[in-house]
Amino acid sequence: MRVAVVGAGASGLAALKCCLDEGLAATCFERSQDIGGLWRYTESIEEGRPSLYASVVSNTSKEMSAFSDFPYPEDFPVFLPHARLLEYLRRYAERFALRQHIQLGTTVVSVRKRPDFATSGQWDVVTEAGGTRTSHVFDAVMVCNGNFWDPSLPLHAFPGIEKFQGQYFHSRQYKHPDVFRGKRVLVVGMGNSGVDIAVEASRVATKVTLSTSRGAWVISRVFDHGYPWDMVFNTRFMSLLRNSLPGPLARGLISHRVNRWFKHENYGLQPEKSYPVREPVLNDDLPSYIITGRITIKPGVKEFKKNSVVFYNYPEEEPVDIVVFCTGYNATFPFLEEADVKVENKHASLYKYVFPTHLQRPTLAVLGLIKTLGAIMPVAEMQARWVTRVFKGLCQLPPRSAMEAEVMKRSKSEVWFGLFFDEVLKIDWIVYLDEIASFIGAKPSVLALLFSDPKLAFTIFFGPCTSYQFRLQGPGRWDGARQAIRTQWDRMLKPTRTRATSVSSSPWPSLLTVFGFLLLMAAVVFAFQ
Ligand code: NAP
Repeated sequence: MRVAVVGAGASGLAALKCCLDEGLAATCFERSQDIGGLWRYTESIEEGRPSLYASVVSNTSKEMSAFSDFPYPEDFPVFLPHARLLEYLRRYAERFALRQHIQLGTTVVSVRKRPDFATSGQWDVVTEAGGTRTSHVFDAVMVCNGNFWDPSLPLHAFPGIEKFQGQYFHSRQYKHPDVFRGKRVLVVGMGNSGVDIAVEASRVATKVTLSTSRGAWVISRVFDHGYPWDMVFNTRFMSLLRNSLPGPLARGLISHRVNRWFKHENYGLQPEKSYPVREPVLNDDLPSYIITGRITIKPGVKEFKKNSVVFYNYPEEEPVDIVVFCTGYNATFPFLEEADVKVENKHASLYKYVFPTHLQRPTLAVLGLIKTLGAIMPVAEMQARWVTRVFKGLCQLPPRSAMEAEVMKRSKSEVWFGLFFDEVLKIDWIVYLDEIASFIGAKPSVLALLFSDPKLAFTIFFGPCTSYQFRLQGPGRWDGARQAIRTQWDRMLKPTRTRATSVSSSPWPSLLTVFGFLLLMAAVVFAFQ
């Protein structure tokens, strides 16, 4: 079976590797001259490619971002500057001999159903390299072209921008803070880009204002007791807790937790509504930069004037020299027919955010489009493991009506239990990973492990849900998975515990662990009733 993989970023590399694992003949097409996608930083901005700013550091820790059979080297920092992340991807490509299957400098121009698609499921794929077009026939296509390269700059939403005489640009064009030196800067949009850029700008600018219409929870990479936020937040125990509590209670718990660092309301950051949950902003500096007056938070922009900006519900105009629109990105697939994958208002008509629901044959899959509250790499990899088995006919998709019903269900506005996320492209990380893993028989059974390997069961239930858990069983089982889980904290601590001390930490389990243990025991008792 011949599979085309579009893009050699993190998702594309995982897709390619999973194809090879399943014995599929895969070819990966990458339009630029190197692998790495988003994580390959370049000084210049290249058309059709994502563009990072020089200081970007990953928002998810290395243990939680690793592919499931390839842990990060122990000496890599816990959160990764772009160069280290790229290095990891290069090592992954080398370890699994992916390069020989990648055609660099080759743009996928179009992907169209063949006339006999209803029976063959095949695709006509046209590529272009060095001005020459080539036609290919593929049995299946995996779309991994990323969704952070097409900037969303809705100027119509900002009345008066045409009158504004200062400079303005989208965050995709931002590289270094020098451009802000001595200027009065307005940053529009409080996503991760907006906050990172505001913080950097405030070190050289005269004044920095960050405008947010909705507000957001801001959390630090350095979480409870200095552990990475995602290794604390994304445990099975915590996921069970937040998803089984009644909605208001789950939201209250989150709100209580995130306000422990600083009270968001006092810093003008309180999210507009307590639900649905919006992607949190990961930033270690913002609160201290607000409290020291380097950054001022303002409401959404009402209109621009010649040299200033007016905010909603705010009496004073703000003089501004330079505006950075950190208004996010569109998910775009220029090589597909619009009807094949449609993303409107961030709603995609994709079963489990992967398979178009309306195709007669499941031979087209979109990877890495979903946004979860966790690292994208294990998610894209899990999707790829499932997709390759669907392509091979070893896993079946439900009937079209059931898939469409599932997509519709996502747009309902409230849930009784657990958290409801603000866009359909968001979901609880562990819930999603478990669901896809269960399709291929790779979801670990904590209950079964409790009897065969209780120590591992406890680590899996209370510890961070690292992706190695999904290599303990099922297709693609990896012998190193157990050891990788057992040593996950060692790899995390290695780059920070660089000075030995004689003081050891408390041998007593925390209250949370004791409570969790009782909960697990109760679950076992119920399971056997
Ligand atoms: P984003 O998360 O999509 O945020 C865009 C923000 O722009 C919105 O939250 C909103 O902010 C504002 N906005 C959007 N449309 C608007 C409109 N019509 N009018 C006014 N404001 C509008 O975009 P991003 O910050 O560029 O991030 C993109 C992705 O990259 C995210 O998943 C993010 O986590 C990721 N990222 C990661 C890192 C990292 O790993 N270090 C760094 C940067 C980005 P308000 O509601 O506040 O107004």
